Formats: sequence, structure tokens, C-alpha cells
Amino acid sequence: MIEASCHCGAIRFTVEAAPTEVNDCGCSICRRYGTLWAYYEPNEVRFAAESGPTDVYMWGERRLELHRCRTCGCVTHWRARDPNSTRMGVNARMMPPEVAASAVMLRNGLPIR
Ligand SMILES: [Zn+2]
Repeated sequence: MIEASCHCGAIRFTVEAAPTEVNDCGCSICRRYGTLWAYYEPNEVRFAAESGPTDVYMWGERRLELHRCRTCGCVTHWRARDPNSTRMGVNARMMPPEVAASAVMLRNGLPIR
């Protein structure tokens, strides 16, 4: 099991399996945030019950919610607004550094190493 948290610890979540790939998305928002996405099914990501509230940013067609910690500002995850979506992204930078370091690094979905 992999534990992840924002800098202040208000937002905590776990995933059962380490990501095999992490994606450095170059879209207009992700390149600014510097996020490194690991993709999971929503039911594979368990948020701690005591996790604090997040602030949400949406843009464009507003299909995705980008969540960040209200206290420290770390971008923790995104969710599709469609409740039937089978995919969400968690920011692998919230995981221990060795987790992302042992995954295949993708840029815009393509391997770079
Ligand atoms: Zn925080």
C-alpha cells in the first residue's frame, strides 16, 4: 500500500498498488502545476476519513475537477465530474519520492526514458 499526503497533511489518501507509470502532462494547467499524474479507478483511491476539504478548479468544458488542499495549496488529485467515469488522477508527487522514481515516466502519455 502506498500512502500519500499533501504538505500539511490535511489531505491523505492511499492506493493499494504503486503506479507503474506516471505522466507529466503538458496541458495548459498541468504544466503550470507541475503535477505528475498516476491514474486509478476512483474506487482504488481511499481518502482518509479525517481528510480536510479541498478547493476545486475547473476550466474549459469543466469535465474535470482539480483538487487542492485549502491549507497548503498542494494539488492532490483530479476527478471527472461524470460519476460514471472509471478514471481519476492522483498527483504522484504526494507519494514518497521513490514511488514515482521507480515508475516509467511519461510525458504527455509517451515514455521518455
Ligand atoms: Zn495541505
